[in-house]
Amino acid sequence: MVLETSESRRDKFPIPGSVSMILGLLGAAGHEAYIAGGAVRDMLLGLVPHDFDISSSCSPDVTAKVLAGAGIRYLDNASVHGTVTAILEDGNIEITTFRVDGKYSDLRRPDSVTFAGSIEEDVRRRDFTVNSLYMDKDGTVRDITGGIKDLEAGLIRTVGNPEERFGEDALRILRAMRFSSRFGFRIDDETFAAMEKCAGELKQISAERIASELTGIVCGKDAPAVIRRCWKILSVIIPEIAVCHGFDQYSKFHDRDCLEHTLDVLGGIPLEQNEGSQPSRDPVLATAALFHDLGKPECFKLDLNGTGHMKGHPEAGKRIALRVLTGLRYPQAFVREVCTLVEFHDIFTPNDKSAVHRFLCACGPELYEKLKILQKADIMAHSELGKKRLARLEYMSELADELKREGAVYQAKDLEISGNDIISLGCPEGPEVGNVLEMLFEKYLAGEIVNDRDELQKTAKDIIC
Ligand code: ATP
Ligand code: MG
Repeated sequence: MVLETSESRRDKFPIPGSVSMILGLLGAAGHEAYIAGGAVRDMLLGLVPHDFDISSSCSPDVTAKVLAGAGIRYLDNASVHGTVTAILEDGNIEITTFRVDGKYSDLRRPDSVTFAGSIEEDVRRRDFTVNSLYMDKDGTVRDITGGIKDLEAGLIRTVGNPEERFGEDALRILRAMRFSSRFGFRIDDETFAAMEKCAGELKQISAERIASELTGIVCGKDAPAVIRRCWKILSVIIPEIAVCHGFDQYSKFHDRDCLEHTLDVLGGIPLEQNEGSQPSRDPVLATAALFHDLGKPECFKLDLNGTGHMKGHPEAGKRIALRVLTGLRYPQAFVREVCTLVEFHDIFTPNDKSAVHRFLCACGPELYEKLKILQKADIMAHSELGKKRLARLEYMSELADELKREGAVYQAKDLEISGNDIISLGCPEGPEVGNVLEMLFEKYLAGEIVNDRDELQKTAKDIIC
C-alpha cells in the first residue's frame, strides 16, 4: 500500500478549518493536541475521514474553559470517558483527554478511566496499530506502535498482547474483521489466533454493537476472504455457518460446498464505488447473500441415486435470518427485506408475463430489483450446468421490465378506482369494499380486464349487483 506523503496529503486532504482551530486553541493554552484514530488512518490511505476525533493532554474541565473562552458551544460528557464535544456548524468534534482504561470486568467498558499525562500512555488503550496514529495541526504524524509500517503492509495487528486486548473487549474481534474486510488488509497471524481463542466472549457483547460490526463485515470489499478465514468466529454469532462449512450438496448443479457457494454469492454482490471512501455492498443484499442458503443442511435429503435434495431450504433460511437478525435487533424493515430476499431467492417463475406479474406483487417491485442481483450472483456461483438457469432469470427480468414500461400496478390500492368509487356504485361501507377491490385486482392480474377507470367501474358494478 503506498501511503499519501505529507505534501500530497496537505494538498488533497487539508485538515478542516474547524479541526485546525481547536488544535490551535488547545496548543495556545499550552497543551498537546492531535487528531487521533480512524481519521489519521483514512487520510494516510488517501480517503476522506467521516469524522475527526481529537486527543489532548488537556483535562476535560480546562478543555471546556478553552472552548467557552473562544465562544464555542460544547457538550460535557467528561464524567463518562473524559470527552468534551465541541458543537460546530460543520459537525461535532470529540475532544478526549489522554487516558488509560482501567480493568474491563464486563468485557465491554472499562470499569474506570484515568487521565494520563502522555500520548505514550493513551496509545495503549487503542485497538489496532493502524488506528493508533496521531497527527498534529501541521500534519506531522506521531507513530508509536508501528502503525505506518502496518498500514503500508496492509496488516491488522493489535496494540500490545492480542489475547489480553480481546479479553478486555471482545468487540475488537469483530472490529478486526470489519477493518480487514473494508480495507482488504490481512489480519496478523498472532492477532488472528487470539481472535479464534477469545471468540466465545462475543456472547457477552450487546446485540446492537454486534449488528453494526456484522453489517460492516459483509459490506466490505474483502468480505468473502475474511469470512472464509474467520468462519469459526462468525459461527459464535450464527451457528449455522459452521454447519455449512464443508457441507457437500451432492448435486450436479453445485461444484463447491455450501459455505464456499455462499461466499461466492456474497462476492458476486456488486461493490458500489463511494467517492472518498472504500467501495461497499448494499447492506440488505450482502446480508441476504450471507443467509440465503444457511437453511440447506437442515433440509438435506439424499435419494437412492446419491443425489442431494434441499427442498424448503429458502423458508428454513428465512427462519434462520429472522431469528438471528431479530435477536441482533436489526431494524424491522431491514429484517423484512432480507427475509423476503432469502425466501424468494430460489423462485424462478414460469416464462409468462402474468406469472411474473404475480411474483412481483408478492415480493414487491422495488425489492425485485435487489432480488435479481441476488439471483444472478447465486446462479453464477453454481456449476457450469447450474449456470444454465441464467437465461431464465434474464427472460423473467425482461418480462418484469415490460410490465414496468406498460405502467403495471402491483397492489389493489393502486388501481384506477378507489374505495369511495366502489361505495358510490352501491357497495355498503365496510370490509365488502376491500373485497370488491381485491376481486377487481385478481381479474386485472388474470388479464380479464385492464387498469382503466371505465372498465373497472363497469366490472365493479357487475360484482356488486
Ligand atoms: P471508523 O472509520 O469505522 O469510524 P475508527 O477507527 O474511527 O473507524 P471509531 O469506532 O470511530 O473507529 O473509534 C475511534 C478510535 O477509537 C479508533 O480508531 C481506535 O483508536 C479507538 N477505539 C474505538 N473502539 C475501540 C475499542 N473497542 N477498543 C480500543 N480502541 C477503540
Ligand atoms: Mg471513527
